[in-house]
Amino acid sequence: MAQSSTETDWVSRFADEVIAEAERRAPGKPVVVASGLSPSGPIHLGNLREVMTPHLVADEIRRRGIEVRHLISWDDYDRYRKVPKGIPGVDEETYGQYIGRPLTAVPAPAGSPYGSWAEHFKAAMVDSLAELGVEYDPISQTEQYTTGAYREQVLHAMKHRGDIDAVLDQYRTKQKPGGKKPQQKQVDEAELEAAEGSGAAAEDDGSTGEGGYFPYKPYCGQCGKDFTKVTSYDDETTEMTYVCTEDEFTETVKLSEFNRGKLVWKVDWPMRWALEGVIFEPSGVDHSSPGSSFQVGGQIVHIFGGEQPIGPMYAFVGISGMAKMSSSKGGVPTPADALKIMEPQLLRWLYARRRPNQSFKIAFDQEIQRLYDEWDKLEAKVADGSVLPADAAAHTRAVRTAAAELPRTPRPMPYRTLASVVDVTAGHDEQTLRILSDLEPDKPLTSLDEVRPRLDRAENWITTQVPADQRTLVREEPDTELLSSLDDEGRASLRLLLEGLDSHWSLDGLTTLVYGVPKVMAGLEPDAKPTPELKVAQRTFFALLYRLLVTRETGPRLPTLLLAVGADRVRELLAV
Ligand SMILES: [Zn+2]
Repeated sequence: MAQSSTETDWVSRFADEVIAEAERRAPGKPVVVASGLSPSGPIHLGNLREVMTPHLVADEIRRRGIEVRHLISWDDYDRYRKVPKGIPGVDEETYGQYIGRPLTAVPAPAGSPYGSWAEHFKAAMVDSLAELGVEYDPISQTEQYTTGAYREQVLHAMKHRGDIDAVLDQYRTKQKPGGKKPQQKQVDEAELEAAEGSGAAAEDDGSTGEGGYFPYKPYCGQCGKDFTKVTSYDDETTEMTYVCTEDEFTETVKLSEFNRGKLVWKVDWPMRWALEGVIFEPSGVDHSSPGSSFQVGGQIVHIFGGEQPIGPMYAFVGISGMAKMSSSKGGVPTPADALKIMEPQLLRWLYARRRPNQSFKIAFDQEIQRLYDEWDKLEAKVADGSVLPADAAAHTRAVRTAAAELPRTPRPMPYRTLASVVDVTAGHDEQTLRILSDLEPDKPLTSLDEVRPRLDRAENWITTQVPADQRTLVREEPDTELLSSLDDEGRASLRLLLEGLDSHWSLDGLTTLVYGVPKVMAGLEPDAKPTPELKVAQRTFFALLYRLLVTRETGPRLPTLLLAVGADRVRELLAV
């Protein structure tokens, strides 16, 4: 493309392709990219890829000065399929009775301020998307269907039901039909099989009865559920008769005026590609398999006079180490959970730096500290100009959108340091400020706001994700038994450390000191190069300090720990 930059990351390449395709299909019109989300329960963090992939591409297109719309379809007119487990305010007995109703016609979990199940689960995602800087046009399928916005498309689909049936029939005998638009859900294999076996798959492409095949499913006029079957349809009058298998309610309606039903999934999706002119819409898992909704949709879309979007498959996004205690919302980590422990820039970066077909993990465990170190190194390289082009591109996409730069922590001290300090101080603000100021004495912190929001994320991580047995508890009393068992060398090394505290009271100073003590003990210069013997001596010395300070063999990095404990208490605990 004319404005193609030197950035050669995957986002730029897709943007080139999407712009070219949009120019071919609909010259002069805004480029349309799309995502679909089902608020059938807490929206899994893994499903964020459904949004982030088109978001990043749309954002790149916007940066190039080209008009683009990112549609997010809320599939809130889908049926309530099952009662998710572990949701506060939701029990199987009460909510089981709503199965078959549209998600917008199911009450929100008890105590929710929202009017429906769909609204409740949508709200958390809306907040997260705002925090992540995702700009989009929301479309509620409930609103679209119940206001008749898809009227023409519904009548068109019914008129061409034979053609649709013929497409679907190519796949019916070959293998079991694929389910709904593949998105990553946290379901185990057994659950997945149960869902397919329950007829969910058949629901996705409509059913064939005595009256023939119909791609439309009404919600029952009596019970409001979708256990309905269309028995006849008149193309001339648009009169449709259906019967409910739940309560045997039956009625005949004019589909040209009727708004309480929807096209089956495998028809609904391509209908919207055509209507909205979607150029780019990725989806999860392998949809190149015969019978998947993306592939079938690629044929059905022509019936609506449209074309299939460019639709890359995105790979699985895993989660490492989500602590049980914080999975309060049905055991499912959501984007909001991730944003509690990391800044939006970091989360955006995880998606931007990996091609959609590469899987990766989002760390809730100790790995998050390493990830933050990597991010800080990248920021340093960006600042000094030594960054590689692809890394620079990912960084840019992480920190700002075409519209604005995301709010950042004014003084981004290392996450692992912040985490260690709040670990030791148990979140005590005054103590935290004192310790953080000691880290760099030549430019002390004036307020904790300088390290926020990163500090708050690190604190949330410590309090919600780090198990109690990995937390740091500074000893109240000296370990006299251990101290009295030390040999002369052990005692001398502790004295050497204590003597150096005052003159080394900073992060850098204490680092020099703790590594230097074993060198001096070995008769080496403080700046001597480490030998294997010296490394062993250092490890032994560090283990001794940990045991005397926190009763464990390991802990936060020693300089940070010493600063956090404070000079007076260190003297008390290490006095020999
Ligand atoms: Zn009914």
